[in-house]
Amino acid sequence: MSSQLAIFGGAPVIPKGTFQAWPLVNEVDEEYVLASLRGTNHAFGPNCVAFEKEFAAWNGNQYAITTNSGTAALHMCVAACGCSEGDEIIVTAYSWSSSATCILHHNCIPVFVDIDWETMNIDVAKIEAAITEKTKAIIVVHLHGLAVDMERVMAIAAKHGLKVIEDACQAHGAKFQGKKVGTLGHCGAFSFNQNKNLCSGEGGMFVTDDEELMKKARMLWSFGETRTPTESRDYHAYALGWMYRNNDLTAAFGRAQLTRLDLYLEWQRNNVQLLDKQLEGVPYLIRPTEPEQHEHNWYNYVLRFDLAALNQMHNASQFRDKIVAALRAEGVEAVVWQRFILPRMTVFQAKNAYGYGAPWTSPHAQLVDYALEQYPVAQRHSDTHVCLVQSLRYPNGPELTELITEAIWKVMTQVETLEELAAV
Ligand SMILES: *Cc1c(COP(=O)(O)O)cnc(C)c1O
Repeated sequence: MSSQLAIFGGAPVIPKGTFQAWPLVNEVDEEYVLASLRGTNHAFGPNCVAFEKEFAAWNGNQYAITTNSGTAALHMCVAACGCSEGDEIIVTAYSWSSSATCILHHNCIPVFVDIDWETMNIDVAKIEAAITEKTKAIIVVHLHGLAVDMERVMAIAAKHGLKVIEDACQAHGAKFQGKKVGTLGHCGAFSFNQNKNLCSGEGGMFVTDDEELMKKARMLWSFGETRTPTESRDYHAYALGWMYRNNDLTAAFGRAQLTRLDLYLEWQRNNVQLLDKQLEGVPYLIRPTEPEQHEHNWYNYVLRFDLAALNQMHNASQFRDKIVAALRAEGVEAVVWQRFILPRMTVFQAKNAYGYGAPWTSPHAQLVDYALEQYPVAQRHSDTHVCLVQSLRYPNGPELTELITEAIWKVMTQVETLEELAAV
C-alpha cells in the first residue's frame, strides 16, 4: 500500500535538514584565502598565476587564463577564434543564456541547432545544414557534464574550416574517448561560479593548446594590452579589450577547491550510480544516458517525465511543475533548470542586443530566423525535465540517495493523482 503524498498532507520521506549545502568550505579554503588577504597583491597576484598553472596541469592544457567568469572566458574564445562582426557561430538551442550571448558580445550572430533527445546536447547530425558562408565557429556545450561527440564535430569543423569552442562550464573532468573536455576543441571555457563542481564564488578559466589563440584571448582579457599584469606593461591598448581578469582572493579559493575536485567528482559519480540503479523501472521516468566513449561528470543528474504516456503533453510544463512540487514536498531538492530554450529568450526574439537591431542589422550579417518550430526537441526537453543537482554532491552520501530514491518511487507510482492538484 502506498502512503499519502506529502503534497496532499502525508509525511515527507526526507526530513528537513538532511541535505548539506554546496560547497563545503573547510580549513584548507580558509588557509588559502587568508594567506592571500594577508599578502600585498589582491588584484592579479601570485594565486592567479598559480591557479592558471595548476588548472592547466589538472586539465591537460598548454595554456590557461584565469577570468572573473565563465562568460568572460567564452567571449575570449569567440575573440581568439578570429570571429568578426556579422560572422555566424553555431550553438545549441538549449543551454545557459551566455553560451549564446557571448556570441553577441563580439557582434557575431548566433545560429541555433536543435538538441538530440538522448544526450540533451547539440544534435551533431544537424550541424552541417546550419553552416553558411558566414559561419566561423561552432560552440559545443558539454551540457550537464556530458561531452558532445567531439570526433564528429571536429571532422565537420575540419571539412568546413571552422573553429570549435568548448563551453565546458558544467563539465570539469568530463571525458570523451578518455580525454578531458577543454582539450578536444580549439579552445574552451570553464566556470567557477558557486554552483559548479569547481567553484570560487565566481570565476572562470580560458583554456587552449594554441599559442596564437592564447595571445588573442589575453588581449581581450586585459584592456587590449599585449603583456600580462605581472610583466612590465606599457599601458597601451593595441586592440579593443575588456577587463576580464580574476583577483587573487578568488583564485586562492579556487586553488583550495581544486585540491578536492577529484574527490568531489568521484563522490557524485558514486551517488549517481547508486541512484540510477535504484530508479530502474520507475513508471513514467526517463533516466539520463552515458553513451559509449563518454565519461559523464554528473554535474547535474537530469530526469525527464514521459508526459506523452501520461497524456499530459498538451500542458506539459504545467504537469511537470506539479510533479516537481510533489517531489519537493517529499523533501527532494528537485529543480527545473531552463524554462526557456535559448532562441525563445527575448534578446533573440526581439533582436534587442545593442539597439538599432545590432548586431543582426550589420552590413556584414545576413538574415537569420529564430522561428521556434525549428527546435521541437529542445522545447520538449525543457518542458519535461527536472534536475537533481546539489543533493548528489559531496558530502551528501548514500543515506540521502536512498531517501531520494524512495521519494521518487513514492511520487511516480501515484503520479496520476496529481491531476487533481491545482496549478502550482
Ligand atoms: C554557468 C555557465 C556559463 C556561465 O558561467 P559564469 O561563470 O556564470 O559566467 C556558461 N555556460 C554554461 C553551460 C554554464 O552552465
